[in-house]
Amino acid sequence: MPANILDGRKIRDEAIPELAKSFAGLLFVPVLTIVQVGNREDTGAYVRAKKLFAEKIGVKVKHIQLEESVSQSELINIIKENNQDTEVKGIIVQLPLPSEIDRDAVIDTIDPKKDVDAITSYNVERWTRTNNQALLPATARGVRTLLQYYKIDLSGKKVVVTGRSALVGKPITSMCLNEKAEVAVCHSKTPDLAKETLDADIIISVVGKPNLITANHVKSGQIIIDVGINTIESKKLDEKDENIAQRKIVGDVDFEAVSQIVQAISPVPGGVGPLTVLSIFQNLLDLCQKEPN
Ligand code: NAP
Repeated sequence: MPANILDGRKIRDEAIPELAKSFAGLLFVPVLTIVQVGNREDTGAYVRAKKLFAEKIGVKVKHIQLEESVSQSELINIIKENNQDTEVKGIIVQLPLPSEIDRDAVIDTIDPKKDVDAITSYNVERWTRTNNQALLPATARGVRTLLQYYKIDLSGKKVVVTGRSALVGKPITSMCLNEKAEVAVCHSKTPDLAKETLDADIIISVVGKPNLITANHVKSGQIIIDVGINTIESKKLDEKDENIAQRKIVGDVDFEAVSQIVQAISPVPGGVGPLTVLSIFQNLLDLCQKEPN
């Protein structure tokens, strides 16, 4: 039987009216500053998605686009100005940054009270050390929202997270541990990935490699959360029945094969991605309403 689809778009769309109402109930219109360095196509798409969502819920976005050649000190000064600006309630610096810039120094300039993605050292320490009451990085919050919506309890479950990056894999791992899952983390040096994933109740893949998780990595009854976002070239037929190249977004999981085996799976696109955007604005609302715990 084909797997149940864990539909992130549906959850996001259902959340919009309530979120818009909560923002309307504030005594001010919050401004979210998005700082973008350079012109990467994928970064541009993520910024557009946030702007579009912000419009729907009554948040003002200040998009600061900087040349790839911007210096670290200029970038830091821009963040400091936004820290001081009382209308600005949230700040995001789109990553990655050019390699000459010290990412951690830039991120740690963000006032933790405006750090909507919870990636400053102060906030990392909170979500690592405390429970899930702390502000969580958006993708980890999105994964938690997806699981909660479909009443998938993490407590006591064996979870395998593939990917251990500081920005995505580790926050998701921490979130799962805080929800009392038993977590194994796999990465590029894991000798036998299938052995680990076959032992899991829930697989969360956060790698960025198409077809990493195949039919050989899964078994029936499992829940698969695909966080990966990859652009691949594929072919489609045009009106003259000729093959033309097209670009397609896929996750880390071989969706067609895996969805025939497992119990439930989140698609790409339409799974965790929309919930990451939603989570940024849920985090912003939390920051507007109160100091994070
Ligand atoms: P990253 O920094 O490149 O980290 C990738 C991780 O995958 C690393 O820990 C790496 O291991 C591990 N890895 C590489 N090859 C592997 C293999 N064969 N088996 C198991 N693990 C392997 O990437 P990232 O920033 O974490 O992003 C990961 C993916 O998530 C990307 O596709 C990104 O676009 C996507 N993403 C999605 C959302 C969303 O909202 N859905 C949000 C953010 C990111 P090592 O540490 O050993 O190198």
